[in-house]
Parts: sequence; C-alpha cells; structure tokens
Amino acid sequence: MLNPITSSGTEGLITLSDSGLHTPSSAGQDYKHEDMFKHSGGALGAPRGHAHVGRGPDSLTLFDFPSTFPLGPRSFQIPGLGQKGRLCGHQRVDKFAVDGSAVHLAILRCKRVECPTCWTDWAKKTVFGLALLIEATARSEGVRPYAVMMSVPPDEVKEDGWDWENVNTSLFRRGYRRGKDHAGMRGGVVVFHPYRVKKAYQQEFRRSGIKRDIGFWKEIRERVNVGADLCEFVNLSPHLHAIVIGNPKGHSCKDFVVRYRDDEAHVPKELALKDIVAYLFYLITHTGVLTHLKKYKRGVRRQPTHTVRSFGSLFRADAKKLLGPDEYEKLCKEIAELLGMKYENGELSYPDSCEDMATSEEQPIWVSIYKLGSYLNDEKWLSSLSLTQTNFWLAVYRFWRARGRPPDLEDFGVLLRIPDDVKLYREVSGDEADEL
Ligand SMILES: [Zn+2]
Repeated sequence: MLNPITSSGTEGLITLSDSGLHTPSSAGQDYKHEDMFKHSGGALGAPRGHAHVGRGPDSLTLFDFPSTFPLGPRSFQIPGLGQKGRLCGHQRVDKFAVDGSAVHLAILRCKRVECPTCWTDWAKKTVFGLALLIEATARSEGVRPYAVMMSVPPDEVKEDGWDWENVNTSLFRRGYRRGKDHAGMRGGVVVFHPYRVKKAYQQEFRRSGIKRDIGFWKEIRERVNVGADLCEFVNLSPHLHAIVIGNPKGHSCKDFVVRYRDDEAHVPKELALKDIVAYLFYLITHTGVLTHLKKYKRGVRRQPTHTVRSFGSLFRADAKKLLGPDEYEKLCKEIAELLGMKYENGELSYPDSCEDMATSEEQPIWVSIYKLGSYLNDEKWLSSLSLTQTNFWLAVYRFWRARGRPPDLEDFGVLLRIPDDVKLYREVSGDEADEL
C-alpha cells in the first residue's frame, strides 16, 4: 500500500526550536553563547522558518528518538505553559560605547517554546515562516489556500496505543497520501496537535458563553497559567491541521477523515492572507512540544522538540524564488505587520522592542562586550578615557573574570558603581514598556 508520496523525500520537517542550548543542564553556560545577548527581536533571524525545511545533521526532529516511544497525555507540553529558563529575563551587559562613556544592557531570553514569556516570539516567527511559504505559493500559482483537519475518525481515537511510529504512519503519511489521492491536495503546511478538549469541558465552556475552539484554548491557557493541570481539560488525541493548496474535496472512510473548513454555504472557504496568519497562530498556540530523552556523545539529556511540517508541492518550496525579490520583500512586510512586527533589511523585529534610557540625541557607537579585553589592552584607547571611566571598565573586566559572566543590572550599585561620566542604557521588555 505504500505510495511514493509517503517517502521522506516529499516531506519537510520544520524544526524551529534550537533548544539544545537552553535546557536546564546547560543553562548555567548560557552566558558563553553570544546568541544569548541578542534580545527577543530578530534573534532567530527573519524568514528562517521557510528556509529551515529539511533535516540537517544537527536538526532534531520527532524521529530522533525511538519510534516505539509510548505517548501518554503527559508526553507533551503546550507552548507557553511550561517553565522559563533560569536566566530568562535577566538584563546583562552586552555592549559598551567605543569612547568608554556608556554601557548597554540587553534582556536575556531563553527562547524556550514552553516559556511563558518567550513562546509568543517563537510562535510569531514560526507563523511568519509558514505564512510566507503558503502565501508565496498561492500568489505564484494564482490560487487561494484552504484550511483542513486530518485525523483518524475522531470518535475512534484511543488514548492509549500511540507512539511515534503510528503518529507517523497513521497521521502524517496517511494524511499526505489521502490528501493527494482523495482530497485534492497538491501540498501544504501541517501543524500537529496532540490533544483535543474533553467533551465535558467543551460543554462547560459553551454553557458559559465561550463559543469556539479558539475561546476554549484561551480559557484553558488562563487556567493552566494560574496552576490548573492541563490534563484535566484535554485528552490525548493526535490529529493534524493543515493549510493546503489544491482542489478541495472532503474525504471520509473507516480509518481516516479529511475535513475542509467551509463557509456558510458549506463550500470550502478560500483563505485570505490575514486568515492564514490568524489561523496559523491559533494552531501554533497548542501544537505539541514533546520532551524526551536524547542521546548525545557525552550522555543523555532532556530535549524538547515539536513539529510543524511542509509536504507535497510546498516541500522545498522557496518563497523568494517563487515571487522574486521585490514581491517577496512586499509580502514579508505584509505578514510582519499582521503579526504586529516589522520587516526591515531582511530582519524581522518588534517595533519599539528596545527602549533605551537615553535622553541625549546622539547615540553612542556600540561595540560587543566581548571586545572589551582587547580594547583594554590598547594603551591608546585606555589613555583616552577619564580616570573614573578607566577604573569602571577595568572593574567590569575583573568582575567578568571572577564570575565568568558580564555584570547584570542588579550588580550595578551593589558590586559595581557606575561613575557619573558613564551612562547606562538598558532595554525595556514589552511588559515594562507598557508600565512606563
Ligand atoms: Zn524565556
């Protein structure tokens, strides 16, 4: 029964989580990674999502652990409903002014998918990459995409007996094959969902006036964030949602269901770009992040991972090639705006994500704190500073040598005094900025 479309050559895994650096066991070394000094805006690079299709030797996927690994209701975490990294939120020296007159602190972010702070950044960047891929394909073909759900018949999904082997065969591969042969799909992007909301809670939520799934998950997220147990609300019930290109046709048989999202007249609904972005974001909010053990050369450690994939004609599709540089740039800007972000010079970032305490008009010229050592070795530079500046930068250097990390905001005024002729610039996080 195996059909060539099921071979790995027609499927791309989009693994956007570079979580290896940020597991608890390695968190203590975070300061050694210059990456950690990038603030949340632009840290992952902009249109990386779409380009990140495929498996490099270092990219981890759901298939890197034993395929017979049994899945239970606690196998998954939902983005934003887990623990933040130990150093997430710390403000640490990341730059100094070339004239020695200013120090700049950036906010460290753990970038964990499960981090209550970092997950939205991950979600937005993931949606950006997926929306870019699907919209570029749609525009280049002059068609609109559709939303679709694919599953083993929902009433027959059992809670037990799931492992990766059958998620792979009875969901992903069967989905691509049925999608192509029976449901009119040429290709698309897929988001894996491990859970469905329990019937009893669906009823409770409806009674309390919450009408749609999007509201159910918002309610669940709020309750879990204040301490409720996710498993109380959901059953393990693996299924897929996809946005696809093709000629939609529903499909239903004893072992599989493909259901397109309809409009009021029960005609598959064509998605506009804003629908794609909104729908993908909603889907991404409760995709499964799987925590499993991963074997490395020097032992085993916990490794969170998750899957979002492209398949069929969208596998290896390249948005820039499909559209050409000008249209590509225009589309990136459109999608960024829909996500409340901005796209400039090939970078995706947040408007006003960085608010310096600077009051003066002129911005200092900044250099990475990692260059401080070589600057201090330069007699000409050192002698151009005032005595208090010289002492300050030597103290920063000594502090770093002693503690193995540059100073945090809390260290100033306690362990390090900032002289009057050195200004402090500091990034302000979104929440803080609102309070100012
Ligand atoms: Zn975090």
